[in-house]
Amino acid sequence: MHRLLCVLLLTGIAGAAPAHWDGLVDHAPSTQAQADGLSQRLNQAYLAEVQRLGGPQWWLDSVRSHCQENLKAAGDHPEASPLSDSGKAFIAEYAAEQQRLAKLQGRYPSEIRWSQDETVGWEMPDRTFQLTFDDGPRAGISQPIQASLRKAGLPATFFVLGKRLAEAGNRRPDYSGFTVASHSYDHANLLELDGVQLSAEFSKTEKQAGASGLKLARIFRAPYGSRSTRELALMKKLGLRSTLWNVDSQDWQGDMQARPGRIASRTLALMLLHRHGIVLMHDVQPQTPGELARLLPLLPRLGFHIAP
Ligand SMILES: [Zn+2]
Repeated sequence: MHRLLCVLLLTGIAGAAPAHWDGLVDHAPSTQAQADGLSQRLNQAYLAEVQRLGGPQWWLDSVRSHCQENLKAAGDHPEASPLSDSGKAFIAEYAAEQQRLAKLQGRYPSEIRWSQDETVGWEMPDRTFQLTFDDGPRAGISQPIQASLRKAGLPATFFVLGKRLAEAGNRRPDYSGFTVASHSYDHANLLELDGVQLSAEFSKTEKQAGASGLKLARIFRAPYGSRSTRELALMKKLGLRSTLWNVDSQDWQGDMQARPGRIASRTLALMLLHRHGIVLMHDVQPQTPGELARLLPLLPRLGFHIAP
């Protein structure tokens, strides 16, 4: 625990926003009790920061209830050190990021649920996560990700694009043992489509999946998380459940990719903060296989369970 906080303090000096948690994967808590201590501190800091920031009341209420549940699950760890300045800075940035998303309610993405008709990850049991990978398949990236998962014996869900499946043809990855679901045909922002175009995003992907010999699970992830009541109604009609995420690795961001370990560090920090949920990564980003390989060995040590 101590070593971790020292690292956080040192790396905080670097200044650039995502650098605050560089090093967390290399100095992660080594026991479940240490992870709980850090989880407790993160939840205390996040709750305080969100209350200070303010935002839509429904969001403040939901953060308060999640943090209180998490604090209960983490237990009391009076011996845990307080968060370092860099840890606090990370939490402050993350809270501001979430506040921005909350203000976009009903229009744009997020780990923030605003309809009971979708799954975000908050409903999963404590220490339980799902791993999800969007936008693939992509040659040279989907396969090493699958190899890491298979080696660790872990399930995952791949939200594929119909267009990428078509392009991959016979060179598509072997998805056996994993869940495959639709992420639209060509990653259009669904909110910008007319009714005919919107339906086609679903039907073309289903058709392509069939041609690729894949059976799609009855869940759907909107590109950018961008959906409104119109899209949710269509998904319902098609027997699909909108499925989002609450642990965003941001593995597509240049800043995050700039330094090895940064994506894994952010992901681990958010797993410790939220304690359960759906992790979002992308099997089209060249850094993602390496970041996943850093993250996976830590999970059993922290008592984290990966659900299908
Ligand atoms: Zn996507």
